[in-house]
Amino acid sequence: MGNPVRVRFAPSPTGYLHVGGLRTALFNYLFARHQGGKFVLRIEDTDQSRKVEGAVENLVETLHWAGIHFDEGPGTDGAFGPYVQSERLAVYQERARQLVEEGNAYFCFCTPQRLDEVRRRQLAMKLSPSYDRHCRNLSAEEAAKRREAGEPSVIRMKMPNDGEMTFDDVIRSKVTIAYKVLDDQVILKSDGFPTYHLAVVVDDHLMQISHVIRGEEWLPSTPKHLVLYKYFGWQPPVYAHLPLLLNPDKTKLSKRQGDVAVDEYRSKGYLKEALVNFVAFLGWNPGDERELFSLDQLIGEFSLERVGKSGAVFNIEKLNWMNAQHLRMKDDREVLVLLKEYLEQHPLNGNKEFADDYLLGVVSAMRERVVFVKDFVEKSPYFFKPPADFDPAVVKKRWKHETPQLLRDYMKALSSVENPFKKEDYELTLRRTVETVKKAPGELIHPLRLAVSGVGSGPGLYDILALLGREETIRRINVALEKLS
Ligand code: GLU
Repeated sequence: MGNPVRVRFAPSPTGYLHVGGLRTALFNYLFARHQGGKFVLRIEDTDQSRKVEGAVENLVETLHWAGIHFDEGPGTDGAFGPYVQSERLAVYQERARQLVEEGNAYFCFCTPQRLDEVRRRQLAMKLSPSYDRHCRNLSAEEAAKRREAGEPSVIRMKMPNDGEMTFDDVIRSKVTIAYKVLDDQVILKSDGFPTYHLAVVVDDHLMQISHVIRGEEWLPSTPKHLVLYKYFGWQPPVYAHLPLLLNPDKTKLSKRQGDVAVDEYRSKGYLKEALVNFVAFLGWNPGDERELFSLDQLIGEFSLERVGKSGAVFNIEKLNWMNAQHLRMKDDREVLVLLKEYLEQHPLNGNKEFADDYLLGVVSAMRERVVFVKDFVEKSPYFFKPPADFDPAVVKKRWKHETPQLLRDYMKALSSVENPFKKEDYELTLRRTVETVKKAPGELIHPLRLAVSGVGSGPGLYDILALLGREETIRRINVALEKLS
């Protein structure tokens, strides 16, 4: 038996959780749950200058909203904490010193000015900029002397001078990188903070992470990490680098293009079920035609072997389709809860209260026609308030010379039906009304719909009338007669 499965999501709190981060978190979570392992949240805040106030709270809240719950992380009493890197500085400092003592890292005193000059010289010679290893061969005594004299320094790791490294990645198979493209990376900054590379290796080891599942943009850093594992004499984790997220035009999905913050999708009314389903398919698929999955079903099916290596296109049409499907999969009562929540957050003019039964009627009349919960109100506002105006194109097409008289006949006929008045009565009454004057049903149906809804299409006319009720139907017909005749 191998090591127990322990994976981590290790965001830097530099902004709100974006879709790419949600994908990484979700894949780690699905893998952990499928394998019966643990999912850890670790906050990588070693670059304090990029830290954003409130970002950690937003991350945690958004993950919980999506149903991605971590077993260990900030605020838990997991055995491997603290789970925030800025609270672990002494751990990294000690490891950096160990690397120096063992000859695998060195103090570097180069000033920003010198580094800049080196860079400019290299660029002028059309070389790709890298540190020229100026301090790599300083003696320990010399370095100690300069440090004692108060000269600022960083610690850099020593990269092998030549040769290449090959490593396995679950998704990309064998990856080979030549050492000569790798810099003598800074691992401890002059302020005592580690850089990402040192902190990630030390923490993944100490937190006993078995699999590192992260975005492809971290692939070029992996050899640096593996060199550190070798220096420390530690067993590296299994790596799985998730494919890039692409815009439909195949450019890299970036914050600058459109919305990438998960919060944006939430506030636009996407269901968490749809967003999670959609994000799961950004790189993974079940190997057959099925596309609709709940979180539990994803846990049941997920494997890293089914993650592809080509870029995953972010297709908003697909997300919208999934949203409509997931909304349809809910029963009327569940949708009612969402609709009431929506109405609470978006009070209508007059702030009218609607009875549950009424709203349930709206849900069942409209549910096949909506993509978002907000569509109940936006696509059929006439269920929530009388139409303020009437679609001119429909008026032109459907409002004829004989229409007012037909509508008056209909109102009269409606009023004469005895209670209890049922949905069928709207239809029977309409048929009788048109038969009496030898007209086709359509000559009344279309203007009637226009009169009560203001538009020319929607759910079944008699469903609308039955929901509005006889009194309101008659009131709306009268208003339409006044405005349109
Ligand atoms: N802190 C890195 C990030 O912000 C984590 C990369 C990794 O998972 O190793 O994405």
